[in-house]
Amino acid sequence: MVPPTAPGIHIGSLTKKFTVGRAEVTALDGVDIHSDEGEFVTLLGPSGCGKSTILRILAGLETQTEGTALVHGETPFDMRKHHHLGIAFQDAALLPWRSVRTNIRLPLEVAGQRSDDRAIQDLIDLVGLTGFENARPAQLSGGMRQRVAIARALVVKPQVLLLDEPFGALDDMTRQNLNIELLRIWTERPATTLMVTHGISEAVFLSDKVVVMSARPGRVQKVVDIDLPRPRTPAMMRTSAFHDYVDLLSAILFGTETAEVDDLEPAR
Ligand code: ADP
Ligand code: MG
Repeated sequence: MVPPTAPGIHIGSLTKKFTVGRAEVTALDGVDIHSDEGEFVTLLGPSGCGKSTILRILAGLETQTEGTALVHGETPFDMRKHHHLGIAFQDAALLPWRSVRTNIRLPLEVAGQRSDDRAIQDLIDLVGLTGFENARPAQLSGGMRQRVAIARALVVKPQVLLLDEPFGALDDMTRQNLNIELLRIWTERPATTLMVTHGISEAVFLSDKVVVMSARPGRVQKVVDIDLPRPRTPAMMRTSAFHDYVDLLSAILFGTETAEVDDLEPAR
């Protein structure tokens, strides 16, 4: 039993049912996920298995039907109220009339917190947008807009970062570059992170732990610890240890897991 005040993310027996017309859709069915403070955890699973619903519940944007969700000992609602959360979703959702700088500053305005110009500039530099401070979203590439979204998520100095396929709409090359960038940013600004992705290699590259979910109703199929050393480098993606994890996760996801693969990384 996890104490209710434990740091990290603690989801227990989480169930979510949606009513669609007269039908009831069970999106999540008894999901348990535990992550320690400062861990990078990814959720991997087929489309429609409830990954975004988990993030929306943790972000306080949706309420569960049953079960518990605690973030650093707080309910998502309190977490949101205290502005301890940073959120970035697939669609950067920037305000088109605002500049890069003022989009990044927005959460501070919402929170009624003072914004420090130097701190904002540091964030802009951190996400690699130096020189684009006054650009409008329409003047940026998709990748640059997601960089703004990441900076905006970090501006409140969040204890917890929730990322829902933040690079999902981008081409492979941009996505891979941004994953490397994300790792660098996360190392400089550590936060307990839960990220949804459909990329198996990016899950291995980024994570301490990968939670594999089954098709709807979403359940946790397996949790795989990624015991690759940090700092991680792009060169690691060419090692056999890296490929073993990619194979293992593919086997679990696509249902071809064999005892042999299972032996490699025991189920938990
Ligand atoms: P994923 O992010 O893994 O693709 P979602 O969490 O978006 O999956 O959705 C899980 C399931 O819940 C899907 O079947 C989806 O149609 C359903 N769902 C999600 N949000 C709603 C909603 N607001 N109303 C009704 N059904 C929903
Ligand atoms: Mg989703």
